[in-house]
Amino acid sequence: QLHNQLVEIRGNIRVFCRIRPAASSVVSCLPDGVSVRLEAEGVKDSSFTFDHVFDQQSSQADVFQQVSELVQSALDGYKVCLFSYGQTGAGKTHTMQGTRAAAGQGIIPRAVGKILECVAKLQEQGWQYELQASFIEVYNETLRDLLADTKGRDAGRITDQNAIKHGAAGGHTIVVGAVREPVESAEGAAGLVKRAAAARAVEATAMNAVSSRSHSVFMLYITGKHEATGACVHGALNLVDLAGSERLNRSEASGQRQKEACSINKSLSSLGDVFQALSAKTPHVPYRNSKLTHLLQPCLGGDGKTLMFVNINPEAASANETLCSLRFAAKVN
Ligand code: ADP
Ligand code: MG
Repeated sequence: QLHNQLVEIRGNIRVFCRIRPAASSVVSCLPDGVSVRLEAEGVKDSSFTFDHVFDQQSSQADVFQQVSELVQSALDGYKVCLFSYGQTGAGKTHTMQGTRAAAGQGIIPRAVGKILECVAKLQEQGWQYELQASFIEVYNETLRDLLADTKGRDAGRITDQNAIKHGAAGGHTIVVGAVREPVESAEGAAGLVKRAAAARAVEATAMNAVSSRSHSVFMLYITGKHEATGACVHGALNLVDLAGSERLNRSEASGQRQKEACSINKSLSSLGDVFQALSAKTPHVPYRNSKLTHLLQPCLGGDGKTLMFVNINPEAASANETLCSLRFAAKVN
């Protein structure tokens, strides 16, 4: 009886829906635990099914528990990518980065903590792991190194149009010219996140005073070597906080903002196109249509693993954007 737009676990892409806490809600979670229903004035009633749904009460720990295994598979050499998608204010940064208090920590600090914990255990079995992190921003189809230690307007800007390379060593993405910092502790990783956050392009919009108009990609390079056997693994974990998915009219954009919105849409629609091509198994997947998809190509295709969070603000005022986000996510099947 539900006109489900079924989002199945198909191939290597999973989709989780997370509903942020709000005073009122037009989005309900269905008893099956994997579906949501949107019922709002002026919006067609519809239901969507995901691989998992996190309701308003879900904690950061609940969320991490469901992604922990996927995160750990990067230690086995998988190229893993987690996205947060949704309109500004829907909880993308909360999901990826979270707050400083231990209980509020998001996926980035928890993932680094978990990886370090596993690395220590694997050491006892003769594995030596090396972790390095880059933090890249994609803004108007331009890459910026958020860990560059230069100052000023163009700090960290990567001008080489061919900076994205996919290395021979297991298909790693290499961003030529970007800083790679060693990661040896959770505190060290937190310091990198703080450094990147300070460098991020944030600009006030009509919708959210600190709305991020760019995509940020935390890239963890994971290299393991087994001393006795000489076996090597090259894994990668990419944690992506996407720019707001809202359409232009809602943020009353003009001028520079309009240019931003166009390229935000370009990379988000390119991402959608790549997902669709992968699920349709078309021979040509258009990774090169945006910097974002080019950067994440090893995770999106082949034996990469991708998980997308669609973050939802359940208030009535956001119903139209919510429908757009749910529809985008439903296309990823
Ligand atoms: P986005 O990055 O999508 O623009 P944010 O993550 O900044 O949205 O969330 C907007 C606000 O809502 C922030 O103040 C954030 O702390 C809060 N928030 C979002 N999701 C949750 C949640 N699951 N629990 C508690 N607070 C949340
Ligand atoms: Mg944000």
